[in-house]
Amino acid sequence: MFALLSSRQIVRSSYRFKHTLAFLETNGTNLTPASLSTLNAANLIKKPIIALLVGPNATDAASNVSKIEGIRKTLVQNDERYEHYLPEQVTPLITNILKDSKFEISSFILPASAVGKNILPRVAAIMDIQPLSEITKVIDSNTFVRSTYAGNAILTVKSNEPIVMTSVRSSSFPSNVNLNESSNNGEIINLEYIENDCKTKWISENLTKSDKPDLSTSKIVISGGRALKDKETFEKLLNPLADKLHAAIGASRVAVDEGFCDNSLQVGQTGKIIAPEIYFAIGISGAIQHLAGMKDSKIIVAINKDEEAPIFKNADIGLVGDIFEIVPELTEKI
Ligand SMILES: Cc1cc2nc3c(=O)[nH]c(=O)nc-3n(C[C@H](O)[C@H](O)[C@H](O)COP(=O)(O)OP(=O)(O)OC[C@H]3O[C@@H](n4cnc5c(N)ncnc54)[C@H](O)[C@@H]3O)c2cc1C
Repeated sequence: MFALLSSRQIVRSSYRFKHTLAFLETNGTNLTPASLSTLNAANLIKKPIIALLVGPNATDAASNVSKIEGIRKTLVQNDERYEHYLPEQVTPLITNILKDSKFEISSFILPASAVGKNILPRVAAIMDIQPLSEITKVIDSNTFVRSTYAGNAILTVKSNEPIVMTSVRSSSFPSNVNLNESSNNGEIINLEYIENDCKTKWISENLTKSDKPDLSTSKIVISGGRALKDKETFEKLLNPLADKLHAAIGASRVAVDEGFCDNSLQVGQTGKIIAPEIYFAIGISGAIQHLAGMKDSKIIVAINKDEEAPIFKNADIGLVGDIFEIVPELTEKI
């Protein structure tokens, strides 16, 4: 005896079985903090997650990833051609999964990292889907919050696309995940390498090495601006304070453009977007493009000799005075 499902039941059952595909980056055999934040955002979509890991570390990382709460399956492709996440290589693999009806994907999510920003537009264009970039909140499976105009306006947007594609602003979601309590870990599936006509080749990378905590994930950030004058003064004034507080160093765009520090330390609209527990803005005026990168910090401490500086409107603690007097005194007293 067969029972015919009403269209409402069919919609409901297909809804129940749809999945979120989460593209995750690894650092060695661990997920990057931005990927952990992406998983937390993915869990809020409330659909079983299919994790995708690519590159030579993928197989080793998969056994850890498959234990994370919410992950139903982990797809693995460990060909070394995926090592640097070249979008020309990775996109054919992702679009193949999205188009494969056996995976029943209704959402695609990835970190809004340099890698994610490279991949999402290409995947979306090939699939002819409008993506939503840098979401800061998940309302439901197709409604999200994101900011625009350098963080001056907050949008709530709903996607009606067949596959909802989003990238995740990592500072807006926690980067700790729960492990699956039961011994029932998600299934690990090895995928075939997808042949493609990738004409791009990875040549080299030149990363600045630093003994300081990572700017994107550090709980405390000490940022300097134009008032720091030059590279030597920037380092002499900020490093001792950062070392005492185990803090990362950040900078305004002017400080970067003037060569006070490496451009990977720029905070703002065209730099890193961060939300540490404590953010020190030292000799920074608080232009909207800078605020766009740090205004979600839990506590903002501003030190500026101009009491009219816009940064004070956003600061929880404001010190009006000369940074060359206040910062050494503060460093000594901590
Ligand atoms: C498209 C676009 C994108 C941009 N993206 C970014 C971005 O990502 N990040 C970013 O930071 N900027 C960005 N900018 C630049 C931004 O508009 C500002 O020019 C920049 O943030 C200013 O840097 P600043 O605060 O260090 O310098 P200033 O605005 O010159 O401020 C220096 C401050 O130091 C104070 N000061 C000087 N001497 C002392 C002293 N001895 N003691 C105490 N205080 C002192 C001054 O009172 C002043 O408030 C962008 C601009 C554009 C147009």
